[in-house]
Amino acid sequence: MREFPVDARGELTVGGLPLTRLAERVGRTPFYAYDRSRVCARVARVRAAIGPEVRLHYAIKANPFPPLVALLARETDGFDVASGGEMALALDCGIAPERIAFAGPGKRDEELRQALAAEITITLESERELPRVLAHAESLGIAPHLALRLNPDFELKRAGMKMGGGAKPFGIDLERAPALLESLQAAGLALEGLHLYAGSQILDAETLVAVQRASFDRLVRLAERLPAPPRWLNLGGGFGIPYFPGEQPLALEPVGENLRALAAELHRLLPATELVIELGRYLVGEAGLYVCRVLDKKRSRDTTFLVVDGGLHQHLAASGNFGQVIRKNYPVAIGNKMHLPASERVTVVGPLCTPLDILAQEVLLPPAEPGDLFVVYQSGAYGASASPRAFLSHPDVTETLV
Ligand SMILES: *Cc1c(COP(=O)(O)O)cnc(C)c1O
Repeated sequence: MREFPVDARGELTVGGLPLTRLAERVGRTPFYAYDRSRVCARVARVRAAIGPEVRLHYAIKANPFPPLVALLARETDGFDVASGGEMALALDCGIAPERIAFAGPGKRDEELRQALAAEITITLESERELPRVLAHAESLGIAPHLALRLNPDFELKRAGMKMGGGAKPFGIDLERAPALLESLQAAGLALEGLHLYAGSQILDAETLVAVQRASFDRLVRLAERLPAPPRWLNLGGGFGIPYFPGEQPLALEPVGENLRALAAELHRLLPATELVIELGRYLVGEAGLYVCRVLDKKRSRDTTFLVVDGGLHQHLAASGNFGQVIRKNYPVAIGNKMHLPASERVTVVGPLCTPLDILAQEVLLPPAEPGDLFVVYQSGAYGASASPRAFLSHPDVTETLV
């Protein structure tokens, strides 16, 4: 996790730049810094594990910072977008429309028309979406590219977020899919792909392998009922990264091995169909740091507080307010004092007038003073774009790709 190198003066470096120098280059704090070499190294590691037959997609919602998206446009095989804005970003980055799939419940009419005009694949998430898409396709005179997202008949027990199984707003229940396939056929329409996304933030390789197997079986069974084989089957993603003490990184090798075996099996069953996975946080999460400046250090009763210039308005997830039941600390550091022993117990808070604005509670850090740089690791995904940045009307956060 803490693989960002430290220089001789005890400074964390990003893309070879010492943190204080980077802060000068950025011009102000707080900021998010994403290390492009770490993103590329991560993609290369995933590709080495999954082999050349499995297509790797990026889910833009994990981090839509345009320079990072442009980098991933070159590094990956396609994008998953979930809004008109993400769709426009993917197109602006030069991704070919046939490599973009547009999923998400609640697509607006103008978004459907945008996707049709761009010839992006629309992933149906509801029965009523089909006649809407067809009506717009007809009014535009454009043949639709369609895929179908399935809500599976199983639920993950050990995922950070469950995205399938039981009653869900996402996808069409597996048992209702055959009827929908019939209406598609009646309309003379083929499917480009089938999609199933069971959940995210899975750290246990065995769980992930089992989910991929189960998802694959469902998708293949449906694909075999189609009059023409689909272009792709998307097994979802769910690869997790460690955020909290005690969490171990996902063992990538068994997951990759399983995917390679599934791709080989698919090649035998449906030779024209490709296997796709879509990853968000696993590609970018560990490549990002959130960097704040210490503004104040104060003592209240038995606690030493570091008050920094960033907080939950820019990094909701690190504050614990992004779905955590019990607040846990992200890994943190004093980025310009990496050589000093962690000898002081502090609680790090942001500038907001709410007791929820905590970035680290009761952590041991090197003694820090105003002016020092406080760093939150694992911040490359679900940071700036997943935070309530207007809350308390502070200046907006800066992002940089180094
Ligand atoms: C959010 C999302 C992802 C990415 O999830 P991560 O946990 O960041 O990998 C992938 N696919 C779909 C459909 C999503 O909604």
